[in-house]
Amino acid sequence: MNVAIPEEDDARNIQAGERILLIDSKDRRYLITLAASGMFSTHAGIVHHDEIIGQLEGCEVVAHQRDESRKSTRVLLVLRPTLSDLILKMPRGAQVIYPKDLGAILMAADLFPGAKVLEAGVGSGALSMAALRAGCIVRGYEIREDFANRALANVRDLFGEGASYVVEVRDVYEGIDERGLDRILLDLPEPWRVLDHARNALVPGGIICAYLPSINQTAEFRSALDRGDYEFAETFEILRRTWHIEGRSVRPDHRMVAHTGFLTTARRVPGRTRRRRAADTALEGASFSSDEAVANAFESEI
Ligand code: SAH
Repeated sequence: MNVAIPEEDDARNIQAGERILLIDSKDRRYLITLAASGMFSTHAGIVHHDEIIGQLEGCEVVAHQRDESRKSTRVLLVLRPTLSDLILKMPRGAQVIYPKDLGAILMAADLFPGAKVLEAGVGSGALSMAALRAGCIVRGYEIREDFANRALANVRDLFGEGASYVVEVRDVYEGIDERGLDRILLDLPEPWRVLDHARNALVPGGIICAYLPSINQTAEFRSALDRGDYEFAETFEILRRTWHIEGRSVRPDHRMVAHTGFLTTARRVPGRTRRRRAADTALEGASFSSDEAVANAFESEI
């Protein structure tokens, strides 16, 4: 495939209404929304929005001193925020899932454009944003109205009014009305209480994914998955270690976030556990050699 990438494109010019990052010489970041004739004031001075609107990312803007006789000129770099920048800077009700885990969820839960996703609880909407960015159609259940409104506002700030996003204020432990869901994403304390509802709501082959802060909750979720209709359960955590790279000093950074949460995924495969248990029972009485049984089992693994 040969797709030309335009070198210059006026649509890339920064527009009024956009959110941008201003980054100072010490890499401090300020997230602002541009408005015609708007002003933003920092310790470095006053930035006129009109000097940014119409420019390209990567431009630098002067922070004007309040006292114009002071001649020091400070400049700030202008960049559009990434999704990670926005998630880390956006107003929060509940604790958000961090970008390192969101990236892993995109692959582990196999989020794809057009996927019908149920998410509970929605919290501040960080996971919603990642799923929407991947092209999913997201319905959220959130028990707290204030958090639901916070998530809706955060999503609106990012995608405008057009996002495929609905949030209902309700308790997911009491049931799921949707049918034909491709994915269910859970970030709440007792995800095992959702599994019976998810059985009817998820399509066969659909994926359920739970994010949990502690391993005893994770173990409880895993045993509930083992009770049937869910297969290929996997649990993992993401350890992200950044490195300090400066001249000859090349080493891991001294500090890292030691723990955020455990991720568990499984696929809905109705009836397979029952069929396998029945087959195992039949096998116990069967006469063919155990080597053959092991070989068959191995083949079905790979
Ligand atoms: N994943 C979110 C954060 C979720 S925090 C993000 O990335 O921003 C957990 C949320 O689950 C909280 O907002 C809490 O109110 C909600 N919650 C807890 N129990 C719930 C339930 N039974 N049904 C729906 N939401 C629930």
